[in-house]
This record gives sequence, structure tokens and C-alpha cells, in this order.
Amino acid sequence: MVKDLAKYAKENGVKYFMVSYTDLFGGQRAKLVPAQAISDMQEDGAGFAAFATWLDLTPAHPDMLAVPDPASVIQLPWKPEVAWLASNCVMEGKDVDQAPRNVLRRLIDAAASEGLHVKTGVEAEFFLLTPDGKQISDPFDTAEKPCYDQQAVMRRYDVIKEICDYMLQLGWGPYQNDHEDANGQFEMNWNFDDALVTADKHSFFKFMTKSVAEKHGFRATFMPKPIEGLTGNGCHAHISVWDAPGAKAKTNVFAGKGEGPTGEVGLSERGKWFLGGIMKHASALAAITNPTVNSYKRINAPRTTSGATWAPNTVTWTGNNRTHMVRVPGPGRFELRLPDGAANPYLLQAVIIAAGLDGIHSKADPGRRWDIDMYAEGHKVRGAPKLPLNMLDALREYDKDKSLKAAMGEEFSSAYLKLKHKEWNSFVSHFSRWEHDHTLDI
Ligand code: ADP
Ligand code: MG
Ligand code: MG
Ligand code: MG
Ligand code: MG
Repeated sequence: MVKDLAKYAKENGVKYFMVSYTDLFGGQRAKLVPAQAISDMQEDGAGFAAFATWLDLTPAHPDMLAVPDPASVIQLPWKPEVAWLASNCVMEGKDVDQAPRNVLRRLIDAAASEGLHVKTGVEAEFFLLTPDGKQISDPFDTAEKPCYDQQAVMRRYDVIKEICDYMLQLGWGPYQNDHEDANGQFEMNWNFDDALVTADKHSFFKFMTKSVAEKHGFRATFMPKPIEGLTGNGCHAHISVWDAPGAKAKTNVFAGKGEGPTGEVGLSERGKWFLGGIMKHASALAAITNPTVNSYKRINAPRTTSGATWAPNTVTWTGNNRTHMVRVPGPGRFELRLPDGAANPYLLQAVIIAAGLDGIHSKADPGRRWDIDMYAEGHKVRGAPKLPLNMLDALREYDKDKSLKAAMGEEFSSAYLKLKHKEWNSFVSHFSRWEHDHTLDI
């Protein structure tokens, strides 16, 4: 693990460090610090006027310092003289409570104090668009069912290969790349890791994918529903909990004997309670996992041109069946299919841990397992909440959920709700073509 950044720069030919942090809206903010100046910055942090980013601070607040975490350092494979660093936000000697990486670190510590170490993997789907972001970049990518399209994935081989080569070089353990269910959409998978490491990699993956796409004359987007009528960008999270962090992990405490008549779903008692917490808080945590106005064009969506949205609309769980909000694909882990590409990498992990821990504390029952095709037979489900229909409903659900708000931190929750309500107000005050078309002749 890297400890001394000045030494690291000398050994690796790094000329600049990118001292980066992520704000509440998921924006990555950075300063480029020459290697000659990194020693002091490693101690004290790089100064930011935080009002200029989304953290709910005022112009009168003192400087915020982004203190880099040397363990997170990644040399940009496409520009090795620059190294990226995830940072923790500090003001006047104290952690900024609402800063997303701090929210996550606090929850990781809370889980660790109970002997629980959450490991996750994310599937960050993206589209490759034309540089203006208006259409998919490949005019030949028009199949009705484009998933796994061999010809189309090869037309974007140069981009996909470059990103995958970089992940190999970084030791992330990438293991597959494919064309996804929408025209112009791709997915690249790498191995799961401790929640903080996954959040840092997820952030870096977005930065890397956008950078490599730009180099090739395209625009990569993780927007939940960039093209009407096509399947949207999910960001499924796979979750397990272990007895120790990192390589010390020996036992998956989620692994259990089985669930249901055939016993193929293996979640331990604590695994089921953790899942129960996710189910209990689902409508509220959607405010974090599905954080934008556009997010609600992906969940609850009408059928896409490919035949299915692959996104949930109801709070249900199941075995190996992709039509539900939670899928248990095999023993010892579950997949939360709710999050989308707009989810903040740190808050996504944080809210999973917050809800899961509450589930364990309250021995939350995840409810019954549904072995049905939700898209065709969803009407058979009684008693399971529908997911929020829009961002405002999700924010209200979050606001009502006292225990989730407390677990995420009061400072964070009030800052987040305040900024997101402002964003919603900006959206609804926007005069749309739809209202003109539907109201003109009334
Ligand atoms: P899907 O079948 O949902 O498309 P993918 O292979 O695309 O699955 O992604 C699975 C993700 O889950 C990967 O990031 C993988 O490393 C991760 N994963 C696998 N096992 C576990 C586990 N025990 N705990 C957490 N994440 C896991
Ligand atoms: Mg200045
Ligand atoms: Mg996948
Ligand atoms: Mg996918
Ligand atoms: Mg998946």
C-alpha cells in the first residue's frame, strides 16, 4: 500500500497528482498538484472554496481541504505522468459530515465495529454517443435485440479493449465485456472488493471511460435513460458481508444453507436480515440509488424496444430471476438491481450499508420470495410497495424514513434533501413542450 506520495512520484515518474473528491451530486472535483508540492498537500490537503461545488456550504465558509488517501492512488494508464487520488473533505480540522466519502467511511467503521465487512461489485453500464450527446455513435447498431451483439461490440473494440487493458494493468481483475440491451450500450465487469475500494474504482471507472471515449471521438454517458424507448443504464450492486476486510476475509457471513423449497438460494440469517433492511428502506433509498429526475424514466418504465426494461418497479426479491428488485443469483450474495448510472459511487455503497445494518439490528424480515416474471405477472403481487414514481416522491420517502436518515447522518441527510429539492423545483419550473402540447386547446 502506498504511504509516501512524494516517493511514489519519484519511483513512478508521476509529474502531477489529481487530488479529487466527489460532491453530493456525484461530480468529481479536482486540483492538479505538481509532484514537488505533494508532501505538504498529503499532510494538509488541497484547498477548495466548497460553495462552488454541491456540498451545501456557503461562500462564507472557510476553505475546505481535500486530504488525499494515498491508498487510493491510481496512475492514469492513458497519461502515466498523472496520478489520481480520492480525498477526504476536512474543514477546520474536522471531517465535513455531508461529504460522500466521509459518509461511506463512517458507515464502514460502524459495520466493522460489529465485525461486518461489506464487499460489493458494481455493473456500471454506459452508452457510447456522438460527441454532442444526441445519438448513439454507431449508425449500424440498430438491432431490435442488440444484447451481446457480436458485430456491434467489435465496431467499438478499440474503446472497450483500451479500457479493459487498463483495468488489467491496474490489477482490477476485469473478466468480461459486452454489448448490452440497448443500441449503443456496453458493460464491463471487474472483480468485487471492499465497499470503499469499489466506490473509488467506480468513480475512477467513470472518469476513465469518459476520458477514453473522448479520445476516440465519442461521448460516454452513464445517464439512467439517455435515449427514450431504449433500455437504460443500470448500476446493479452485488453485495456480500465477510468476517474481515481485504485479503484477510475468510468467511462470507451471508452464505447460508438455503431458502425456499429447492434450497438453491443460500443466504444466512444475517444475510436475510441485511436483505430485509434493503427491502424495508427501498422506497427511501431510491432517493440515493436513483438520484435524478431522469432516473424515474428507467424504473417503472414502459417496455423498451428490446422487449424488457430489465429495471424493477416494485419492492420484491427472488432467486435467479432478473425481473425483481433483488435477485439472489447464488449462495452468499444478492444483487440490488435498483441503482442507476447516476448514483453517486460513495452514497450508493453508504446507503446499502446503512439499510443493511438497520436490517440486522431490527432482524428485518425480507418478506416472501416471489418466483414469478414480474414484468408479466406483477399484478399477482399483493402488499409489496411500488417504487417511487419520480424524484420528488423518492425525496419525500427518504425524508419520512427517520432511521435511514439518522444512519446516513443528519448533516448529510439535510444537506442532500435541501439541494435535491432545489433541483426538483428547478425541473418543475422548466416550461416543457409536453404541457404546451397537452394544454393548449383546453
Ligand atoms: P450479472 O449477472 O448481474 O450481469 P456481472 O457478472 O455483470 O453479473 O456482475 C457481477 C458483479 O458482482 C461483479 O462485480 C462481481 O465481481 C460481483 N460479485 C461476485 N461475487 C460477489 C460477492 N460474493 N460479493 C460481492 N460482489 C460479488
Ligand atoms: Mg484562487
Ligand atoms: Mg452484468
Ligand atoms: Mg447489464
Ligand atoms: Mg446485474
